[in-house]
Amino acid sequence: MTQRFSFTLKATDGKARTGVIDTPRGQIRTPAFMPVGTAATVKAMMPESVAATGADILLGNTYHLMLRPTAERIDRLGGLHRFMNWDKPILTDSGGFQVMSLAELRKMTEEGVTFRSHVDGSRHFLSPERSMEIQKLLGSDIVMCFDECPALPATEERVAEAMRLSMRWAQRSRDAFGDRPGHALFGIQQGGVTEDLRGESAEALKAIGFDGYAIGGLAVGEGQEAMFGVLDYAPDQLPTDKPRYLMGVGKPDDIVGAVKRGVDMMDCVLPSRSGRTGQAWTRHGVVNIKNARHADDPRPLDEHCTCPACRNYSRAYLHHVFRSHEMISGMLLTWHNLHYFQELMQGMRDAIAEGRFDAFEAAFHAQRAEGDIERL
Ligand SMILES: [Zn+2]
Repeated sequence: MTQRFSFTLKATDGKARTGVIDTPRGQIRTPAFMPVGTAATVKAMMPESVAATGADILLGNTYHLMLRPTAERIDRLGGLHRFMNWDKPILTDSGGFQVMSLAELRKMTEEGVTFRSHVDGSRHFLSPERSMEIQKLLGSDIVMCFDECPALPATEERVAEAMRLSMRWAQRSRDAFGDRPGHALFGIQQGGVTEDLRGESAEALKAIGFDGYAIGGLAVGEGQEAMFGVLDYAPDQLPTDKPRYLMGVGKPDDIVGAVKRGVDMMDCVLPSRSGRTGQAWTRHGVVNIKNARHADDPRPLDEHCTCPACRNYSRAYLHHVFRSHEMISGMLLTWHNLHYFQELMQGMRDAIAEGRFDAFEAAFHAQRAEGDIERL
């Protein structure tokens, strides 16, 4: 097992790439999907179950953990891996995005952001230096730069201003991170949907030098067409020999489209969140298990799926426990959704390695176009 963080590109097919990130806590096969463990848990899942779905890495949220139970407490208890019983790699976000979307009474200056907790109203301060300190206390394997992501739509002037502030913060994040062998620091490209600004941001990040590069500021309401428009050029502006991480994406068709355009890593709450609201993602699209058509259906959600929800339970049972508000409903559907997302990633990794990504993509869309199985 390596003691260093490194990325090895194994094969490319068009712009799609497959490879391996080596870390002291294990390998991350790319393209990789990271389930989100916001509050030191992937909701409704035991950590060993998350691993069983094929996840190599989880995402933890700095903003949530710094407020409750606090990074200092997690550090005293042995770090986030031990605290939540997950020994594989963890990536933590910087807290920046969630401060903008969740906190109250924010005040932003060149120095950082002062805000009130959405949990108890207490006052906090986040800056590049404080974000690096928190992510170190958590014991994160992949640390993200502290940045500002303006909500879209925003004027180009506002997007440019936020991007340039984020680049100054990227340098401060790099300086504060220091030299930590085995741990990685990723820079975050900003610039909205403007190619020149994205290019300027990429150049600034490359001049500083990072272990990986994220594409930030997308999946914030711009729509798939605009996002793919940016992804047609943004990955090419970043180094080829480092992982590229598209933050906060997405739905299965977003993921396939992003991988096609050269993205290596993604994260999203979607599979776990929809699992708790009765939505199952399958090869044939979304199945709403609360729909009355499933009440007498003895067939599994997906007869080809090997997850426990599909192997051991009928649609009728999944429908019943959802309608009855039983906890096992969220547990089974979350497991299925995470399993499906990981199976999709494995399918893409194999297809890229074998030079048949286009055929894989065509089959993916054709199966979805068929829709769910006929009702009984
Ligand atoms: Zn399943």
